Amino acid sequence: MTDDKPREIRKTDAEWRAQLDAEQYAVARQGGTERAFTGKYWDHFEPGSYHCIGCGTPLFAAGSKFDAGCGWPSYAEPINATVVERLVDRSHGMVRIEVRCNRCGSHLGHVFNDGPAPTGERFCINSASIDFKSPD
Ligand code: FE
Repeated sequence: MTDDKPREIRKTDAEWRAQLDAEQYAVARQGGTERAFTGKYWDHFEPGSYHCIGCGTPLFAAGSKFDAGCGWPSYAEPINATVVERLVDRSHGMVRIEVRCNRCGSHLGHVFNDGPAPTGERFCINSASIDFKSPD
């Protein structure tokens, strides 16, 4: 996975490897995907918010989380339009829209157009890329 955009948070590969565990690194920094129904949050429904594993930015609110039955945490929308970046992803013989953290460039997952009203979007996010925080 390449990330040549200017980011507010930039770290060397060694710094990312030191900060993240092996699966977090493979997903967030190499664009991998955790296996369905194996992550921490696909079946997690508590009040709070989900923050970027790379930089701690709040990305998704628990109120937007829904059970899509797909085995990954699914959200109807991000906390706001600027915290995530959308990129066209043509890997694996598909055209998908990849979602990354705008601040640090970490790969989060993909967004699909089969979500609930009113957004109609489903942000399909890897548990390995996010960290849940309870309300203060
Ligand atoms: Fe981030």
